[in-house]
Amino acid sequence: MLAIEPIRAFDDNYIWLLRQPGATACAVVDPGDEDPVLERLAADRLFLAAILVTHKHGDHVGGVAALKGRFPDAVVYGPAGEPIPRRDVAVRDGDLVDVAALGARFAVLGVPGHTEDHVAYLTDGALFCGDTLFAAGCGRVFSGTFEQLHASLQRLAILPEETAVYCAHEYTEANLGFAEWVEPSSAAIQARLAEVRALRERDAPTVPSRIGIERATNPFLRVAEPAVVAAAERWAGHRLGDGARVFRALRTWKDRDYD
Ligand code: ZN
Ligand code: FE
Repeated sequence: MLAIEPIRAFDDNYIWLLRQPGATACAVVDPGDEDPVLERLAADRLFLAAILVTHKHGDHVGGVAALKGRFPDAVVYGPAGEPIPRRDVAVRDGDLVDVAALGARFAVLGVPGHTEDHVAYLTDGALFCGDTLFAAGCGRVFSGTFEQLHASLQRLAILPEETAVYCAHEYTEANLGFAEWVEPSSAAIQARLAEVRALRERDAPTVPSRIGIERATNPFLRVAEPAVVAAAERWAGHRLGDGARVFRALRTWKDRDYD
């Protein structure tokens, strides 16, 4: 089992650090900033063997070039369809990526929608999903489409419920506020909100999440639930028909009226 820990960056980003317990070789996911990574590596004299990138946004790739400068042998993996600085290996949906120095294999999942070729990496029950699925929420639609993001989230939703979700931002508390708008009488959302508030009060991460709790509390995965459909239709002012339309309405509602 990999040891996985967060490195905080900017206001609310998590750069995930992966290694075998006690090993000095490590990998990072989405290093938007090199400074906190270099600090963490120096503290335990770790060396960087791989960089996994989920998508092209600056808060996910901003540190790649500098890290590659310090660790020229680190292999940079990133989605084939996006401009990723210093990328060595272009990955696509269905690829299996062996990071020998880490003793780990990752399955690449194509999860477009937030961006046009966003990917996620899955290894041994741990999902690194960038800005696609967040704890109790999802990314905004930037350079992909609503339909893509909806399909990508539905694909992640059917992973085993114990799968740990390592997303790239600490947005959980605010996301649950919107989830509460959508399903005000959900006991699962209320219980999660209490847990998350307690964690945030002592500045502890609320991530990783698990697919099971996302299915129970994340409105963007719950587009087939009658209560969620009803709330989205109330906001839209008309019937929505299918899950993709419900998803689009929820995402637009949150963008316009909540965030
Ligand atoms: Zn992003
Ligand atoms: Fe981001």
